[in-house]
Amino acid sequence: MSIRVSNVTKLYGEQKALNNVSFEVNSGEVIGFLGPNGAGKSTMMKIITGYIPQSEGEVEVCGIDVRTDSLEVRKKVGYLPEHNPLYTDMYVREYLLFVAGLHKAPKSRVDEMIVITGLTPEQHKKIGQLSKGYRQRVGLAQAMIHDPEVLILDEPTTGLDPNQLVDIRKLIREIGKEKTVMLSTHIMQEVEAVCDRVIIINKGVIAADQKTSEMQNASGTVILNIEFDAEVSLSGLKKIAGVRRVQHVEGGQYLIECSEAKDVRSDVFKFAVQQNRTILQSQQQKAKLEDIFRTLTGNAE
Ligand code: ADP
Ligand code: MG
Repeated sequence: MSIRVSNVTKLYGEQKALNNVSFEVNSGEVIGFLGPNGAGKSTMMKIITGYIPQSEGEVEVCGIDVRTDSLEVRKKVGYLPEHNPLYTDMYVREYLLFVAGLHKAPKSRVDEMIVITGLTPEQHKKIGQLSKGYRQRVGLAQAMIHDPEVLILDEPTTGLDPNQLVDIRKLIREIGKEKTVMLSTHIMQEVEAVCDRVIIINKGVIAADQKTSEMQNASGTVILNIEFDAEVSLSGLKKIAGVRRVQHVEGGQYLIECSEAKDVRSDVFKFAVQQNRTILQSQQQKAKLEDIFRTLTGNAE
């Protein structure tokens, strides 16, 4: 077991940022920690890395208690904080040598990290001169310099352009072959692209914890994308048996979320006739993780 979080609660003053959170991460897993802004992702990660204490509950990393033995934990954990704070006046190589020194890692690790993270052409530049994608690589290099067993990456791809995004995700997948990785994101596709398992957190509470593939298969939800020739009654649509949620896209277009067990299409057709409307288009598909995420975090109507 790489990470064990048991009944963790975190209070900031009156506010409960985490409420009785429990989960475990096995060694070698790549976990996506997914949730909307303010869900408590960064808070959980700061607790796991020993940067802030929890208010209640236990956290162990590689069997070590983070509260009583946070220095030992830091040897086992590499951490890329949100917003990736770096010394922008330092040169890439100089900065990595500095970090290696803090961890008492051999200088040869700096060269290895520069190669692994693809920083060779940029190693003599100042960090402040690098593009965001290359700064993220420096952040990853510093997180891995002491060869930690566990990597905690807080929104490692936020703010990257589409090409950089693909590169960094590829790099994380490579790293994930050797290490336990927990990465936070609010992008569902990222989880689909990179993670074995997803833990969804919403308002400080775990809303789901499942293998990515299982979550895709077992949601039991289908989405009916339907277009009438004009707007119809939203409440009328919601009343149809088997319909879970309805989202009005625009004009006569609606996304109807329904249970896989009950085919609603014939009832939707009857409803259209009753309302004197014509169905122009209808298409049914299995719910994507994106839809499941919206359902679990309550951003659908
Ligand atoms: P996420 O990373 O998922 O966006 P955070 O863990 O940063 O969420 O924040 C969770 C909640 O805790 C938010 O409502 C945030 O405003 C609050 N919060 C985070 N850090 C602090 C702090 N240092 N003091 C007070 N409230 C905080
Ligand atoms: Mg955050």
